[in-house]
Amino acid sequence: LFAGECEFIFGAQKLGQLPPQTLPEIAFAGRSNVGKSSLVNALTGRRTLARASSEPGRTRQLNFFNLANRLMLVDMPGYGYARVARSVKEDWQDMMFDYLRGRPVLRRVVVLLDARIELKAHDKEVMELLDRAAVSFQVVLTKCDDVAPTKLARKQAEVEAEIRTHPAAYPHLSLTSSQTGLGIEALRADLAEFAQP
Ligand code: GDP
Repeated sequence: LFAGECEFIFGAQKLGQLPPQTLPEIAFAGRSNVGKSSLVNALTGRRTLARASSEPGRTRQLNFFNLANRLMLVDMPGYGYARVARSVKEDWQDMMFDYLRGRPVLRRVVVLLDARIELKAHDKEVMELLDRAAVSFQVVLTKCDDVAPTKLARKQAEVEAEIRTHPAAYPHLSLTSSQTGLGIEALRADLAEFAQP
């Protein structure tokens, strides 16, 4: 699945522009700079698939990537960038909530958290949004290569405790690094479960 073709098909700035629901979808969400583009690139083995964003908070659209006509990966706009005004944050939440609620083909949201930094209020709010939308989500720690083992273990315990408070969360926490490849194959296997035969 992931070794095959992966084609960027669409960038939607408004919900009215979403592509037809022909394939099961997996969406990726996370704070700006969390390593989302890098992770999607690592998963699909492409370097240029999702443009690694040098300017945090810039991508304000939903980008759709067709994986071999079996699965759609959806890159959600990064959230939580400090320079973004409150009204823009609310717009993000409203648009994402509408997307989450109105997309029966959406099978799972992958929520990315940077292993190096504190769990932020905004991350918890997004998980609550997913609970309210009743969309199954799975949490992935990114940049695990850049954290000392004891600190990583503490982080893992903290995030696992948070996950247990969310009814829509998949219980397993994935530890990943796009740089070393840690956890990438396992995450591919998790997501391949949702692909069309
Ligand atoms: P996005 O804004 O969430 O799409 O994040 P990017 O993929 O553009 O990555 C943001 C920054 O984090 C870049 O400077 C990347 O080089 C860095 N980064 C991404 N993944 C990793 C990783 O696995 N390990 C380390 N150490 N840095 C990473």
